[in-house]
Amino acid sequence: MTRPTHPALGLVIPVHNEEAVLPSLLKELRDLNLRVPLTFLFVDDGSTDGTLSILEEACRRDARIACLSFSRNFGHQTAVSAGLQHVPGDLVAVLDADLQDPPTLLATFIEQWRKGYDVVYGIRANRKEHWLLRIAYKSFYWLLSKVANIDIPRDAGDFALMDRRVVSVINAMPEHNRFVRGLRGWTGFKQCGIPYERQARHAGKPSYNVRRLSRLALDGLLSFSAVPLRISSWTGTGAALIGFVYLIYILIAYTAGQTLPPGWASLIVIVLFLGGIQLIVLGIMGEYLSRIFDEVKRRPHYVTERAIGWLAKGEAA
Ligand code: UDP
Ligand code: MG
Repeated sequence: MTRPTHPALGLVIPVHNEEAVLPSLLKELRDLNLRVPLTFLFVDDGSTDGTLSILEEACRRDARIACLSFSRNFGHQTAVSAGLQHVPGDLVAVLDADLQDPPTLLATFIEQWRKGYDVVYGIRANRKEHWLLRIAYKSFYWLLSKVANIDIPRDAGDFALMDRRVVSVINAMPEHNRFVRGLRGWTGFKQCGIPYERQARHAGKPSYNVRRLSRLALDGLLSFSAVPLRISSWTGTGAALIGFVYLIYILIAYTAGQTLPPGWASLIVIVLFLGGIQLIVLGIMGEYLSRIFDEVKRRPHYVTERAIGWLAKGEAA
């Protein structure tokens, strides 16, 4: 596999209501010198503030910038996926808009790529988020590394540089519930992680709340692991065994001529216990089922409202 000596780099930047941070981001990107030609593709994920007009202005002023605007909010992972579909370049990088991922680190990423790596991703060395959130992240990545049937690196986010061949593989994946860092790991090739300090968000508010984060976590767990399904059969088997042992105990006690207690309490306990397990099992099945449902509907992943800048002309600058 020969690699271009002068690769072009395309950056994908998903944005959702980032008017507070966009001016600083655009300035930083203007000053960014990676000694490779750059193209920027912003994916406006249904912003309801001034984000789109700032981006329009940026597209007018800089021919390297384009924007794909969704008709509504479709979610961060969908925005990243859409960007990957449309961005040109021998190399593609994914960057958050809130300057939590330092764009200057891309220079190091490119160096690693030159050494032969196809995927270079950032590892969040120390997070500056709330300690509760940090514990939640840590436990999620720990759990994911235990149950996922592929190797998904811990504490790696979507901030990464990928070779074109990796991007082509990801683009060919039709699934709806996209956990991009998982898909990226799934492709294989040579991957390496670079630790970096994840800054606190530069300005504005995170669009991820607990509900959306847990949805992302579930997507990661369920798309890459069948263990949750298996857990339910294990607990089910365990509960059934306990019931069986209890039955034997009653029989022995009965034949030994013991007068049995009325048994009301234990009966209730068993009914509740089994009922609980059945509901858990149903819940887990339901999670998978809803994802299968999403996939079989075969709806488009997103709806484009507008394409601005070079994307409107159908080609890269
Ligand atoms: N984002 C998006 N769509 C969404 C939520 C977020 O495109 O529905 C973008 C957001 O503008 C930012 C990136 O995805 O550039 C990461 O979002 P955020 O900072 O809220 O997430 P966190 O840094 O907490 O993971
Ligand atoms: Mg952020």
